[in-house]
Amino acid sequence: MTFEYAPAPESTSIVDIRPSYGLFIDGEFRDSIDGDTIKTINPATEEVLSEVVAAGPRDVAAAVEAARRAYQTVWGTMPGTERAKYLYRIARIIQERSRELAVLETIDNGKPIRESRDVDLPLVAAHFFYYAGWADKLSYAGFGPHPRPLGVAAQVIPWNFPLLMLAWKIAPALACGNTVVLKPAETTPLTALVFAEICQQADLPPGVVNIITGAGETGRHLVEHPDVDKIAFTGSTEVGRQIARAAAGTRKRLTLELGGKAANIVFDDAPLDQAVEGIVNGIFFNQGHVCCAGSRLLVQESIHDELLTALKRRISLLRLGDPLDKNTDIGAINSAAQLERIRALSEIGELEGAERWSAPCPLPDRGFWFPPTVFTGVSQAHRIAREEIFGPVLSVLTFRTPEEAVAKANNTPYGLSAGIWTEKGSRILWMADRLRAGVVWANTFNKFDPSSPFGGYKESGYGREGGRHGLEAYLAV
Ligand code: NAD
Ligand code: MN
Repeated sequence: MTFEYAPAPESTSIVDIRPSYGLFIDGEFRDSIDGDTIKTINPATEEVLSEVVAAGPRDVAAAVEAARRAYQTVWGTMPGTERAKYLYRIARIIQERSRELAVLETIDNGKPIRESRDVDLPLVAAHFFYYAGWADKLSYAGFGPHPRPLGVAAQVIPWNFPLLMLAWKIAPALACGNTVVLKPAETTPLTALVFAEICQQADLPPGVVNIITGAGETGRHLVEHPDVDKIAFTGSTEVGRQIARAAAGTRKRLTLELGGKAANIVFDDAPLDQAVEGIVNGIFFNQGHVCCAGSRLLVQESIHDELLTALKRRISLLRLGDPLDKNTDIGAINSAAQLERIRALSEIGELEGAERWSAPCPLPDRGFWFPPTVFTGVSQAHRIAREEIFGPVLSVLTFRTPEEAVAKANNTPYGLSAGIWTEKGSRILWMADRLRAGVVWANTFNKFDPSSPFGGYKESGYGREGGRHGLEAYLAV
């Protein structure tokens, strides 16, 4: 049975997108000194939304200089109780402006409004509240009696959770007394620029937060700037490697979060309907543009056919289309380049002999779209079982014993997350002990909380974000 829904688009009247933006340096929006411009588009319509600066090396230097000055004169010496007040204020303004921010995030990124409204924005505010609470308690965080900040943090973030990644980076850095220069991704700069306005609204001292837009070159200038004390990067393994190379032999501290190829493991005693929901959430949340996505389904052989039938039935009910529609489950792919990567790897999956199935849903004429897709008959050697697709594509493998499940789950260069579905608590613990993954979810998937540390093993990167652990990356310990 299929249901017909009337369109239920969220109004965009709450957002006010300017035709162009400057750089946010030293508390004000400035024209670029030596930059270029880039256009950001709505990936669901291909409509140009605005023009932002692609900051040049002198722009980057001005931002780092402002951050250094603010660190030395005001933020680095301010008592934690005072820093906390600013962070609480920012958190409250984010809550007040959350509908505006959610709509803008959806327009610039392509993710469904249901997710930006109900997941991204509440978590963004929660991160600022959580780290505001630490700002005056750092002496009790387990890093010695008077842990000191590092100084100026260069932060480069990706496009999949633009504002949430900003919160993961900026909230702990400021709580610990560092100042920041943050570069959002080139396809999703707009919510970071509204965040700059929020810093002004909160009367944050100039230079404590600087937002410079641009693409990879701007990011490279930022992380390679000699007056940066700390680099925090989330993005591709390839760029992470380049940054690690550039930072080697310098005094700069580095944390990297670089994606994954998580196993979502379903045993024959799992509650199947719940598991189906968890698998769908694991790989189709945010169009699969999720570093910890459950992109490899490992299913116990005896329930393979039953589970796949139920899964395909469920996937066929997902609604793909206008990200602003409140009934939409699957939004747009973030960029033409990302769509191309997803298509290319999916074609390779077929060429290598896996069987492809896509949900029978019509795709809009304009914009970047990819239907929810499942590959069965996948072997461990297939590229779709090894490489991050970063799209709505699930690769299904089978196993017979828990030992085999562990061996297959760990057979990846990554190690960011994993999921286990079983009724037996003892088996969950046995598996969790053996899985080489930073986060292991049991009978759920993609659950996030600011108090819970997040990070990877192996090529997923190093360092932890979130929780008490996340403070360590911004303190001289
Ligand atoms: P990317 O690594 O190129 O971009 C991430 C961020 O790094 C962006 O802000 C970008 O401007 C910046 N950047 C690019 N080159 C840089 C450099 N040399 N120095 C400093 N900063 C630089 O990622 P992408 O091209 O957008 O996506 C490619 C693949 O990366 C995706 O298909 C996916 O597999 C993976 N990815 C992972 C995550 C994650 O959350 N871990 C996020 C985005 C993409
Ligand atoms: Mn965009």
